[in-house]
Amino acid sequence: MGLVLPKQAEAQHLPDSINEPCAQSWILEKLEQEYPGFAQSYNQVYEASVDASKVKPQVQNRARRITDTTYYFDTVFIVPVVVHILYNTNAENLPDSLAINQIEVLNQDFRRQNADTSKTRPIFKARAGDARIEFVLANTDPQGNPTNGITHTYTTRTTFGGNQLNDQMKFAAQGGKDAWDTKKYLNIWVCDLSQNGQDALLGYAYPPYGHPFWTSNVWVADNRQGVVIHYKVFGRNNINATNGNATLRQSAMGRVSVHEVGHYFGLRHIWADDQYSANKCAVDDYIDDTPLMGSMSNFNCLWSNNGCITANDEPDMVENYMDYSTHACQNMFTKGQVAAMRNVASTYRKDLAIAYRIDTTIRIFDTVVYDEVLVYRQSENQNITVELTDELKDGLITAQVFNLLGQAVTEKTLLTENVTRFSTVGWRSAPYVCILRKAEDDKVLRSDPLFVD
Ligand SMILES: [Zn+2]
Repeated sequence: MGLVLPKQAEAQHLPDSINEPCAQSWILEKLEQEYPGFAQSYNQVYEASVDASKVKPQVQNRARRITDTTYYFDTVFIVPVVVHILYNTNAENLPDSLAINQIEVLNQDFRRQNADTSKTRPIFKARAGDARIEFVLANTDPQGNPTNGITHTYTTRTTFGGNQLNDQMKFAAQGGKDAWDTKKYLNIWVCDLSQNGQDALLGYAYPPYGHPFWTSNVWVADNRQGVVIHYKVFGRNNINATNGNATLRQSAMGRVSVHEVGHYFGLRHIWADDQYSANKCAVDDYIDDTPLMGSMSNFNCLWSNNGCITANDEPDMVENYMDYSTHACQNMFTKGQVAAMRNVASTYRKDLAIAYRIDTTIRIFDTVVYDEVLVYRQSENQNITVELTDELKDGLITAQVFNLLGQAVTEKTLLTENVTRFSTVGWRSAPYVCILRKAEDDKVLRSDPLFVD
């Protein structure tokens, strides 16, 4: 479980070479060295993301009792992906089929529809979560032309790996491929990351943009956002992995990308990157439902691992995608991780989703809902109601209702009252979505699914 101990990451030494399969902790340390104070800022923002995602009454005095109502409250984010395959040799020019099966793996694992959920140990089973994030290969490029979402680019570079990770794969001028608008697409660059012929580094990703110390001229700028994967472990059953050494063979199920996309949506390693710390149990990953963990798995699958003994002690969660266990060992994100990723997806990466699909319905018989903005429909009233707190009602937010074809069914309405109602008289029985936008710049703040029956 989570733990209350110093959450400030200790100063770590920067390893001379990147000797981990994922460079996340190296990147965090490098950012701290380049931008002193980054770590503290990162921790604060990350902690806030996690906290904000927890269910808690935000505005206690706006309790509202809703009874006997069918409330459609959940959404699936659908994220367009572009895969940039960079190759110097034929072996590196991976076939499109690997990009397609990689997307399948991402969708199965992020939706907890993977075939191996049964391997989650009983103590952790109830904690496993469906992230409700799906991925599709983009069908339109940034110029508006049709695409299959996969680019192939020849490069004269024999490797993009090395000690410095200068992101050369992300720039055509440096032998790479320029990003597609990283606010609109999840860019995945697939290239050779070997160093001196060794397959040490398998992938990396930057945490979400938006920290105070991150400015447009640094290496985490918009055009560097995305995920980088070593070509040998991209996709499921990549022959470069299945014919490779033990580490590669154990990384052949496409879950390097699952792990890196987890970082891209803000997750930390479940052992909290404190492997260089004297007290490996002093730093938590901030997620309450992952057990405290001292060190990462070392490409094994040891259910007996238990790096930190605590009250209500639990073994290390080697099933977690954010560990370095073998792919056959991994099968879950926790609900806490899911909440953190969805919070990041709807704040730092909010322009990414191309669609919000209504997914889950519940019938509320008697509950009290707290929030700053309430959007709801009651069966007995033929209207959709938007309620605001006093602080938000001064023309800061607009609301507009759309059908699932994306057609507006109401005017865009500036909210200037605590309660605004949209009549649904004459509407056909169907799902709708109420979009809340910031009046100032029209940025989408939230989308609330509703069902009119
Ligand atoms: Zn990692």
